[in-house]
Amino acid sequence: MLRRKGHKTNRLPPVAGSPILGHLSGRDSPGEALPTFLGRRTRQRRPLRRTRIEGSGSRGGTKPPSRDPLPVADSRWRRRRSGDMVAAKRALPRLVASLRPLSSTAAGTLPKYVKIVEVGPRDGLQNEKNIVPTHVKIDLINMLSETGLSVIEATSFVSPKWIPQMADHTEVMQGIRKVPGISYPVLTPNLKGFQAAVAAGAKEVSIFGAASELFTKKNINCSIEESLDRFSDVLSAAKETSIPVRGYVSCVLGCPYEGKISPAKVAEVSKRMYAMGCYEISLGDTIGVGTPGNMKDMLSAVMKEVPLGALAVHCHDTYGQALANTLVALQMGVNVVDSSVAGLGGCPYAQGASGNVATEDMVYMLNGLGIHTGVDLTKLLDAGTFICKALNRRTNSKVAQASCKL
Ligand SMILES: [Zn+2]
Repeated sequence: MLRRKGHKTNRLPPVAGSPILGHLSGRDSPGEALPTFLGRRTRQRRPLRRTRIEGSGSRGGTKPPSRDPLPVADSRWRRRRSGDMVAAKRALPRLVASLRPLSSTAAGTLPKYVKIVEVGPRDGLQNEKNIVPTHVKIDLINMLSETGLSVIEATSFVSPKWIPQMADHTEVMQGIRKVPGISYPVLTPNLKGFQAAVAAGAKEVSIFGAASELFTKKNINCSIEESLDRFSDVLSAAKETSIPVRGYVSCVLGCPYEGKISPAKVAEVSKRMYAMGCYEISLGDTIGVGTPGNMKDMLSAVMKEVPLGALAVHCHDTYGQALANTLVALQMGVNVVDSSVAGLGGCPYAQGASGNVATEDMVYMLNGLGIHTGVDLTKLLDAGTFICKALNRRTNSKVAQASCKL
């Protein structure tokens, strides 16, 4: 959704010189503190609305209005609360369409466009205990391809001994409909995986490093330094075949074994992977323990070593901080974010870690901020419904829950 034409914006100082979340609470109009979907009318101070919020209707002689004073969107929400779930479901597309973008200045300096990297089919499904049928994976990716997403991580060419869920990687790569303009990267931990991926038609690959020595040791039984050496084979082979490589750095805000991770360590590993030839570094809060303050400190360190345009964030939502952490990254200038449809996923090596932030919730937030993504939320919700039904589970997306899709 694009920002309204002619909407006035006051430029605020650059984020670097101001508190990251300062602008969120710095609004001086009581109307502007209300939800965005209340729109322009909300900003024209309306005493009747205030009376209703306070719930008394007796102060200052203000009587409840004879006609419903609430905007249409509010009426819909109230109907839902009263149990009319069917009506609410029907109203969703119109409600979503009626969302008014918040002035970007209200939340700091924000990018106009954000690229969403959908990682559900790989990062999400790899953590499923029961093997998901190949046709379900293919159908999910094909549905995601209809949503407007430009990057969908499709599968992982790891050894089936490590992750049996991804054993059908070749069938998935060959079975999906590859829409022109959409990239379908795959994870390739070593040269063997890279060669198999290319043979299966992969045009982009990812490698997976970590900022934690202990995590790397437990995960792939080597030091960070050794793990980076192993990637050099993949990067040389990729260079020869002009295949772009995306680099993941995991555990950037915490490790299940080491606990706190120093921003300097994250910066060092990120710098190495970028120097080795990764075109983009995705900074992963793999176990979802970070908070906005950690994110700011970590990103500040990494930005000194890797160009901002080559950074992405990948937040898991274990402690419910993923959207807040992502927002901080956006305010600092990052404009690539990873997310997973229906909030699928976890981390096979970190017990208790929950899935990535749900793509539906990410799109909803970005829409509300007036940031363009090109993603159709309704189609995305359909893809989320599809995979949750196939897995026989409840969605982790708050937006999907609120929209009665499941
Ligand atoms: Zn992840």
